[in-house]
Amino acid sequence: ANFVAADYEKLQVLGHGNGGTVYKVRQKRTSAVYALKVVHGDSDSAVRRQIFREMEILRRTDSPFVVRCHGIFEKPGGDVAILMEYMDAGTLDTLLKSNGIFSEPSLANIARQVLDGLNYLHSHKIIHRDIKPSNLLVNRDMEVKIADFGVSKIMCRTLDACNSYVGTCAYMSPERFDPDTYGANYNGYAADIWSLGLTLMELYMGHFPFLPAGQRPDWATLMCAICFGEPPSLPEGASEEFRSFMECCLQKESSKRWTVSQLLSHPFVISNAPRSERRS
Ligand code: ADP
Ligand code: MG
Repeated sequence: ANFVAADYEKLQVLGHGNGGTVYKVRQKRTSAVYALKVVHGDSDSAVRRQIFREMEILRRTDSPFVVRCHGIFEKPGGDVAILMEYMDAGTLDTLLKSNGIFSEPSLANIARQVLDGLNYLHSHKIIHRDIKPSNLLVNRDMEVKIADFGVSKIMCRTLDACNSYVGTCAYMSPERFDPDTYGANYNGYAADIWSLGLTLMELYMGHFPFLPAGQRPDWATLMCAICFGEPPSLPEGASEEFRSFMECCLQKESSKRWTVSQLLSHPFVISNAPRSERRS
């Protein structure tokens, strides 16, 4: 399909990222609403690398738990546009800010969907590397989908240096800062599990778990907390199942962390999550 900008009407800006802008757009002919991520050809090379990585991954993925891509368009000047399904409830980050903290049953529902998405990605040798609330999109049916593949990694040949500093450092796992200490049998996939654990804990507590509410730290403080501190734990009142699930995700040593398929059968996910027709 050929993308003709004039066929679409920009409705509003949904988000700004590293170099790109995401718009809510309407296709004039059909009135269908989409999200359109636009990166300009004159962006710096890091931004362009990110958008090409994202394009490569979105071209390959086809899962109800990963944001759908309806087309990728490259213009001669180097501008790139990715047409995606529009997720009308925003992100888990905006939902946290507008509706407040999440209950355990809704977190179990979120956990199961993100795990289904990670299961799909990991089985296709893709490591997301930037799982966090603002990269998890939601729609009105409370379907949760993984988005933003700008720093993801496709594992091809060997387990190469996937410990480079990409992603949002707050959600980065200990072995990505310090593979010698925390990365026995390092395979990269476990980093997504750590980030999922921190994400769920943040949605439960209402603030980033390594820090007291309201504090914005510098990079070094955070890295020290992640590498030298104990993993954060849930406040009183959390169920034993949730606590255990968190411990499985937030093992500092990456090889002790549970895998996606192990976590999908964890009691927290099994006993809380409603059955969904989407699994069929
Ligand atoms: P970046 O690499 O710039 O972080 P993202 O893909 O995460 O790019 O998009 C930035 C923001 O735009 C997201 O946090 C979200 O608020 C919004 N957004 C992105 N894609 C969609 C979509 N398909 N539907 C609704 N909002 C979206
Ligand atoms: Mg993002």
